[in-house]
Amino acid sequence: VQERDPHQPEFLAAVKEVATALAVLSARCCPQPVFDRRPEPVFEKRPEMLPVFGMMCEPERAIVFRVPWLDDAGNLRVNRGYRVQFSSAIGPYKGGLRFRKDLTLSVIKFLGFEQMFKNALTTLPMGAGKGGSDFDPKDKSDAEIQRFCQSFMTELYRHIGAHTDVPAGDIGVGGREIGYLFGQYKRITALHTGALTGKGLDYGGSQIRPEATGFGTVIFALAVLKDEGKSLKGKRCIVTGSGNVAQYCVMKLLEEGATVLAMSDSLGYVYKPDGFTMADLEQVMAIKSRHSGKLRDFKAPGAQYVEGRKPWELNVPVDMAYPCATQHELNLEDATNLFKNGCKYVFEGANMPSTDRAIAFFHKNGVVFGNGKAANAGGVAVSGLEMSQNRIGLQWSREEVEAKLTDIMNTIYRTAKVIGFREDRLNFDCLQRCTMNTIYRTAKAASIEY
Ligand code: GLU
Repeated sequence: VQERDPHQPEFLAAVKEVATALAVLSARCCPQPVFDRRPEPVFEKRPEMLPVFGMMCEPERAIVFRVPWLDDAGNLRVNRGYRVQFSSAIGPYKGGLRFRKDLTLSVIKFLGFEQMFKNALTTLPMGAGKGGSDFDPKDKSDAEIQRFCQSFMTELYRHIGAHTDVPAGDIGVGGREIGYLFGQYKRITALHTGALTGKGLDYGGSQIRPEATGFGTVIFALAVLKDEGKSLKGKRCIVTGSGNVAQYCVMKLLEEGATVLAMSDSLGYVYKPDGFTMADLEQVMAIKSRHSGKLRDFKAPGAQYVEGRKPWELNVPVDMAYPCATQHELNLEDATNLFKNGCKYVFEGANMPSTDRAIAFFHKNGVVFGNGKAANAGGVAVSGLEMSQNRIGLQWSREEVEAKLTDIMNTIYRTAKVIGFREDRLNFDCLQRCTMNTIYRTAKAASIEY
């Protein structure tokens, strides 16, 4: 992989994380192991899995395309669009679209790679894909976003479909964008099918889909705590991000009686020593629903805004961290500071938010670490449930979907626990065993492919 894609750092980091978990990087090929503890040498026991893993590191195909659109001043603008179809071994390609100005093929590939493990863990029949564009929705008008989405779909439609590839949202792509994309898909193909998930409730969407990732992360945390005879009541939490995942993570934490000390965005963070209230969260949601809404506009008694920094730096007692912003937002220094302040649990709402050195630090110091591939699988899980509802032409109630989401998150936790827990800690083995589970499942399905 290193030789094929030497200039794709995010993708290489994601592959390395999984490969390390599988002990591909043995002492022989990696004299300084990334993790202190040498994991079980899986491939020595199951050598036939090694070539399958090698195959899984190469996407089935990567589509790169031009997206021309007109801005409000009538100028022709061009962005680059992507759809990386990673694996269809266990079902149609499935995964979100990200619109972000610094998006590269490397980022899409790392996300598609992660999606493969995450989707298999949900137990639903979903393969893996990811896509997006380097389009920056932040400073665009609603009409510009609509024209961009229509142009994006004018190329993408020929590559997707309810039984082939089913995109959804991710950073920069929410309900509004999915609406514009689906409208254009329908106009071009004349098909009202489940070719996208995250749709509005009125036209084939699922209950709980907007909440699913954030809720799922907290449901996963609850499963861990329950096993230790604990609850979230009074737990002091730092959450990063203030978008879709962070918002519903905070909502569920507040419902469970936890204290949320901080939230952040790309420009800075808000620290509230006595904790965010539901009304504070509503204010954050209102700010973020506006074009270019920024957390620095958040106002509440006692709230402090810190520009250009991340809340991991806070020097206050902390029990849990929920990184819900973006990749590599939590490094070794952050991990060290969190631990110094008492943090014993990390649950990743974002994709690959912790650097490999931060993860190694957590494992070494006995911090319970819920890897994103397990802890943030709730979003794609409810996308899978949306696909099921579209296929049978029904819409399940909120209660039904929430119950299914809870079941899936608990199953993911058990998958990690039953075969992967050492002592009573969710640790390094979580990823290793989850990954093995995925590889077995994918490999069994993929064996018909070569
Ligand atoms: N973007 C989300 C993720 O990273 C959801 C993908 C989906 O629903 O297909 O898992």
